[in-house]
Amino acid sequence: MLGTLTRYLRFMGYDTTSASGLLEGDRKEDTVLLGIARTERRLLLTRDAELARRGGDTALLIRSEDVMDQIQQLIDRHLIRKRIVMSRCSLCNEVLREASACEIERSGYAPRDWGNLSFYWCRNCNKLYWNGSHGKSLEERVGREIKDS
Ligand SMILES: [Zn+2]
Repeated sequence: MLGTLTRYLRFMGYDTTSASGLLEGDRKEDTVLLGIARTERRLLLTRDAELARRGGDTALLIRSEDVMDQIQQLIDRHLIRKRIVMSRCSLCNEVLREASACEIERSGYAPRDWGNLSFYWCRNCNKLYWNGSHGKSLEERVGREIKDS
């Protein structure tokens, strides 16, 4: 569904949960989704026009299939700002914390020369992040392709 957008929003620091695993177009599950969105005070992003209509203010119909267009739509609606912050795990949404030297070394995939890099750790996934590891190409794409509203 909106898996790529979900990951990108986390890279942009936004608290983003995903409904993957639920059946698309199932009205009962749609009701559950809208209930979760209302309880957790979230905006439900969907490609499903019927679900967006039922959700009213709680849901937003995402028009494009292209993730950059999707981000642009959210920026144009003043829902998000154009930024990349390394504050959430892109896989699980957990808030990242600074990684310890031990975690950096143990990961086995940190760059050798890590003197001037900042490292972050997801305690859920035991995953190491650093500025440039994942955010860099996204940051360049967002910088190039997304217009400030
Ligand atoms: Zn994680």
